[in-house]
Amino acid sequence: MPIYEFRCSSCRHKFEKLCQLGETGENLKCPRCGAPKPNKIMSSFRADSADSLRGSRGDSCTTCTSRNCSACR
Ligand SMILES: [Zn+2]
Repeated sequence: MPIYEFRCSSCRHKFEKLCQLGETGENLKCPRCGAPKPNKIMSSFRADSADSLRGSRGDSCTTCTSRNCSACR
């Protein structure tokens, strides 16, 4: 499950929230002041690291000699 960062539009408080995929955070409230609909901050570093990890493993498998092994991923 991805963690999204939100910033309150009222008091500028920044907080992280574990979200279901596709959740927009419109039903969230600021934990500090209770203002609804915090702004979602786009943080793509988790997706980037996942992509690079997948890419490096795609070149050659570390557990078998196959170049394209879906079995040992
Ligand atoms: Zn707030």
